Amino acid sequence: MTIAAGTLFVVATPIGNLQDLTPRALQILQEVSLIAAEDTRHSARLMQHFGINTPMTACHDHNERDKGQRLVERLLAGESLALISDAGTPLISDPGYHLVRQAREAGVRVSPVPGACALIAALSAAGMPSDRFAFEGFLPAKAHGRQQRLQALQSEQRTWLVYEAPHRLLECLQDMQQVLGAERRVLLARELTKTFETLHAAPLAELVAWVAADSDQQRGECVLVVEGAPEPEPDEVSAQTLHILDLLLAELPVKRAARLAAEITGARKNQLYQIALERDGNTPR
Ligand code: SAM
Repeated sequence: MTIAAGTLFVVATPIGNLQDLTPRALQILQEVSLIAAEDTRHSARLMQHFGINTPMTACHDHNERDKGQRLVERLLAGESLALISDAGTPLISDPGYHLVRQAREAGVRVSPVPGACALIAALSAAGMPSDRFAFEGFLPAKAHGRQQRLQALQSEQRTWLVYEAPHRLLECLQDMQQVLGAERRVLLARELTKTFETLHAAPLAELVAWVAADSDQQRGECVLVVEGAPEPEPDEVSAQTLHILDLLLAELPVKRAARLAAEITGARKNQLYQIALERDGNTPR
């Protein structure tokens, strides 16, 4: 089967293990007329390994807007191109956004060729709730910015993930412990799909000590998967609400008193009903 004409293929490449390049990705990389790569020298190794001779052009954060226009012209003329990044899925903490946007705005067909992605790989093996999750990319490199971002994430109830550079891993985990607490569980997913792949989950206090004690854990590439915050306690009922409830209970049956108190105060009816039942015996009639 030949590939579609005039299409920008967004192609995922391996994040370590070269066997993770899919057969479809291989075919597309062989058949497009040009590969737009984040770093052509870096990707040359992948091309060499698979015997791909397709010409490559650099398309990275610094030239993407200008280069994008020229690439879109070629797409509109009917050529098919592939976009790749150094590793994993383009646009996921990687360049490609401007090119994809320009192509779509020009009416070019953009087609994903899915494959490896470090965050999805980490999440799939973390054993943390994954029906909903949040990806936060890289946290700010400087301590102040990082702590602020962590504070904003403190009460996030979904599992959330960040990418982190190895030389910042320990300080990042220490900041997490300070802001999220010693008990919050975090999974460190390091060197996924590679020889020294490590997945280790522990409460932050333990994880910080484990990483600090073993400098090998501060090497290579890593993803942190953070357990979501527990559900907040149901709102406490204020003293004023209780007073209103007591006044109403003195005059009315439990159900009506609870309903009216909920309407007046905005508190939850069911919660007030439960409280009203408990207080009813003590309320003078
Ligand atoms: N586009 C890539 C993807 O789909 O995952 C991510 C690119 S981002 C510039 C690079 C970061 O991804 C690394 O710093 C690390 O946090 C994470 N990463 C990439 N490969 C990894 C691997 N094999 N194991 C763990 N984390 C990895």
